[in-house]
Amino acid sequence: MTKELLDKYEAVIGLEVHAQMLTKTKAYSNDVNEYGARPNTNISAVTLGHPGTLPKMNKKTIEFAIKLGLSLNCEIADHQYFARKNYFYPDLPKGYQITQDKTPICTNGHVDLKMGEGVVKKIGITRIHMEEDAGKSIHDVDVYDTLVDLNRAGTPLLEIVTEPDLRSGDEAYAYVTEIRQLVRYLEICDGNMEEGSLRCDANVSVRLKGAEEFGTKVEVKNMNSIRNVQRAINFEIERQIEMVEKNEPIAQETRSFDAVNTRTISMRTKEAANDYRYFPEPDLQPLSVTKEHVQAVKDEMPVLPNALFEKYTKELSLSDYDASNIISTKPFAAYFELLIQYTKNYKAAANWMNGDVRSYLNQQGKTIEEFPITPEKLAALIALIDEGKVSNTIASQKLFPALLENSEKSPQAIAEELNLVQDSDESSIKGFIDEVIKQHPSEVERYKGGEKQLVGFFMGQLMKVSKGKADPKAANKLMREMLEN
Ligand code: ADP
Ligand code: MG
Repeated sequence: MTKELLDKYEAVIGLEVHAQMLTKTKAYSNDVNEYGARPNTNISAVTLGHPGTLPKMNKKTIEFAIKLGLSLNCEIADHQYFARKNYFYPDLPKGYQITQDKTPICTNGHVDLKMGEGVVKKIGITRIHMEEDAGKSIHDVDVYDTLVDLNRAGTPLLEIVTEPDLRSGDEAYAYVTEIRQLVRYLEICDGNMEEGSLRCDANVSVRLKGAEEFGTKVEVKNMNSIRNVQRAINFEIERQIEMVEKNEPIAQETRSFDAVNTRTISMRTKEAANDYRYFPEPDLQPLSVTKEHVQAVKDEMPVLPNALFEKYTKELSLSDYDASNIISTKPFAAYFELLIQYTKNYKAAANWMNGDVRSYLNQQGKTIEEFPITPEKLAALIALIDEGKVSNTIASQKLFPALLENSEKSPQAIAEELNLVQDSDESSIKGFIDEVIKQHPSEVERYKGGEKQLVGFFMGQLMKVSKGKADPKAANKLMREMLEN
């Protein structure tokens, strides 16, 4: 689609994210809540909704909801009750889900998305409510039959609904990334989109730029990665623009994302949509959350990525980019927190973490918890560079790999063993420079004739002659002086 046509329209997007809570037991029963157990083993009569059974509220879910609500700047409702959402489906053993319809536990929040250096986009959070997951229909194991695994039934979910504040696939990408990071920092959800423990439905509409009214929205489901949320939205925006351009009406419907062909396919129209006949759940008591309860949860909150971001950009003067990368996961940030206890060169610390350390982890398929070099030793390596004993290049190419292999040794000892300590001694550097000047008389002539950029060439030769051990800073200065004479 041409940029002109895209620019003529504005996309309006609201997201509904479902997060499976990492509680030990289910939302309204003592059944074990775990992923990957043998099918239909974690189901009691309560989960199955047999007559005479009673649901019982899992207090942990309330705590998790408050945590998430606080970190998304929400108001926490003091009085709430639960509702039954009725529908028939093979994987819904009770015939209804217990959810919060009219009284969500969290309302009226917001999240600030970092959309580039210094650019922030504020997204309103309409509500977060507690509910339970359904079971799972499995269509691809048996050739003839659909199989049902009810283990997932009753898993506690938080549904997080945004205002229609997002305007692009990129913003949706940033939003889901932010939510995933947050639930992982809070340790309330593992954030795994492939396994479906974090799911996102996207509501998408388009309107002419400058128009006041929203267009008809389409809901897109079944994206199993954040990248696919973005791809699905981008496809949907173009599909809707094409429809509007052709004067065709947009049907209010639910569509499914087809990742193989990067398109969305109609699942059901609004006319065929369910009427859930919500009514208050008679078997669960209304809930009241006291100010003291909220405060107690607040007191136990871990440090959040946003607070770290503020610290790194404001106090340590790191760029938004560096800070964002450091805080990407909680353990990565935790390592950095230790590292900066041993070095005050924050920029170098960030560069090592986001550069060589991350490359190593990616290559090895390891997490930072498995990283062999302690923060103290990485700081010692940074100090060797800062003291001019090892060049950045040598540190990265030789010392760091050697330290990975011998992580019990100190960087200083390895540098000495491998003869990597560079020379910043003036007389020996001068000796190297003399050699270079002798070897390249014609380049020296050209340099003296005005081709000052040749200093780069001379420095390269110097590194060869000194086997990379001449301190570049000291050498550069001396080189210029000696070439001028
Ligand atoms: P429904 O009644 O279909 O559930 P809601 O009003 O509850 O719709 O909104 C569901 C989601 O859709 C919310 O995230 C909301 O921000 C978003 N939304 C509402 N209207 C639009 C629209 N015209 N275009 C895009 N998203 C929208
Ligand atoms: Mg709704």
